[in-house]
Amino acid sequence: VKVVVDKSRCTGHARCHSIDAELFQLDDVGYSSVTTSEVPPGGEDAARNAVLSCPEMAIQLED
Ligand code: SF4
Repeated sequence: VKVVVDKSRCTGHARCHSIDAELFQLDDVGYSSVTTSEVPPGGEDAARNAVLSCPEMAIQLED
């Protein structure tokens, strides 16, 4: 499973980072620096929670 962040939607709430700081690293101004990344084994639940927590609906999971 891959996690994809649409940077054009991200407004830097950092909720994703608070759920999984390794998967969702932030850039210098607090926006998600992730564009596409493979979800590590066992990290799917956190990734799904991040999808639900993002107020901008900027995060998607792809098979
Ligand atoms: S929660 Fe959404 S808007 Fe906030 S930093 Fe993460 S991807 Fe961006």
